Amino acid sequence: MRFLLVDCLARGSGSRKATVDVIGAGPRVVAGILESFGYRVRVDVPEKISVNILKRYVEEYDALLISAMSSDLGIVRKLTRLWRNLTRKPIIIGGPITGNPLRISELEFDVGFYGESEETLIEICSRKLFDSIVCREIEKLKSIKGLILRVNNEIVFTGRRRFVSKELLNTINPSTKIVKYYPLYWASRVYVEIVRGCSNFNRPKIVLPSGKKCILCYRCKYGPLRSRLECPIGIPPGCGYCSVPALYGPPRSRHISNIVSEIKGLIRNGVSRIVLSAPDILDYCREELVEPEPLTDPCSPPPNIDALRRLFDSLFNISEIASGEVALMLENIKACLVNEEVAKLLGEYFKGTTVHIGCETGDQEHADLIGRPGTVDDVVRAVKLLTKYGLRPYVYFIHGLPGQSPKTVNNTLKIIDILKQENVEKITLYRFSPLPGSAFEDYPRAKPFVKDKLSLMIARKVQEVNIQSKYKLLNRIIKVVIVGEYKKKYIIGYPFYHGPVVLFDKSVERYIGFLVKARIVRVISDRLVYGTVESIERRVHQVT
Ligand code: SF4
Repeated sequence: MRFLLVDCLARGSGSRKATVDVIGAGPRVVAGILESFGYRVRVDVPEKISVNILKRYVEEYDALLISAMSSDLGIVRKLTRLWRNLTRKPIIIGGPITGNPLRISELEFDVGFYGESEETLIEICSRKLFDSIVCREIEKLKSIKGLILRVNNEIVFTGRRRFVSKELLNTINPSTKIVKYYPLYWASRVYVEIVRGCSNFNRPKIVLPSGKKCILCYRCKYGPLRSRLECPIGIPPGCGYCSVPALYGPPRSRHISNIVSEIKGLIRNGVSRIVLSAPDILDYCREELVEPEPLTDPCSPPPNIDALRRLFDSLFNISEIASGEVALMLENIKACLVNEEVAKLLGEYFKGTTVHIGCETGDQEHADLIGRPGTVDDVVRAVKLLTKYGLRPYVYFIHGLPGQSPKTVNNTLKIIDILKQENVEKITLYRFSPLPGSAFEDYPRAKPFVKDKLSLMIARKVQEVNIQSKYKLLNRIIKVVIVGEYKKKYIIGYPFYHGPVVLFDKSVERYIGFLVKARIVRVISDRLVYGTVESIERRVHQVT
């Protein structure tokens, strides 16, 4: 059986606008399981699929698999309609887009995977039930938990499955060969999952649109770890705007040997930039410190320094990483877990690379109301410590969050100013969007910042800080992978260790596929800088 897996993650209603150089981990996990059962999988991205290509795919493949987030509804709608107009072959969807089974009924699909897909997918493969899906005998799947089925035009949710065990997680080998299907895989940041799930089981205290309001029992903040899994009135765990703890559960770490072998596989397939991915890297093996209880406290105990060091040692033993031929970076960390020892450890291995920290609001009362872990002061302290040890912190904020007010915005502006003084490299500002499965799923999406006075104040401040930090790059020499043409006028490059996209003049075209040292000579915007090539480092990819 042959599957076409379309990775729609972060495509919104069309091509990807932000995080253009990211390849996520989820689709590779799905492909790895299917490959282990002998199925063939081809991956593609929506921006590369024209109607003519899809007509060919419809002939070649037995089913369409889609991996998407809720913000990708637009592109998923388009793609599934196109597929359905051409064929009755099944459409299967998965990823955070299915976080609320009732909210995807308008989409064209036959089978949806709810939450973590591994155990469900393995059961379907082991029982050879893909044959039933292809024959459109969908009702045969009703006994399998974790599925959203369309049976006779009715949506049937077969019920939640328990979270995937650490043991099972560690038997799965994400596909590494399919990475080559992605355009620019050789220059992209390829995410490798090291921890599944999030340790923040605090919950928001704000009144929810459903009328639910926390009864202040404080079980989720101070109760025994296991009791924090459930709230007596059913408020989903985690920050109100996030669905990770509800859909993916508390942290479970992957074995070092699995991570190492996946990374080696990616390198063999030509990947040059790798990001260790997790809702919090510092949760790596922190669950071992509280086992057999689940790790549902975001800030205590402190990180498992020994395990982190063992992981980093093993990864920096891979010759291409040790030599700097392949860039290894970190995704997210929680500020409340950063202390001097942690920052020093990260600096030892990841000096010069970026690291992302959530702050979301600069107002402490607001942070508590929306269920944030730690404090706003923790974020400032973490940025200070990480900068001291040579890392380049990026901090996230969200505008239009439930509870945003003149007071919260004023405090957010103050914190952004403090972060600027602490040399934060970039502030990333998101617009609040209600995620299915999260506590805030029934709130309306925030207005664009240009249509909201308070959000606009945050956006302007963020832009000012980001532009100023780009000016600090002037005359600096950074490593850049040259990837291709941009708007017919420029050549575009991605900073090897992440950072703003760099544009060059057309004469640099001959270096496409090379890693170069570039001097930054001009700031174009808060996201773009202009550079000149100083020297050639090496060829990363042979462009044909
Ligand atoms: S969110 Fe639920 S568990 Fe947490 S304090 Fe409120 S009622 Fe208790």
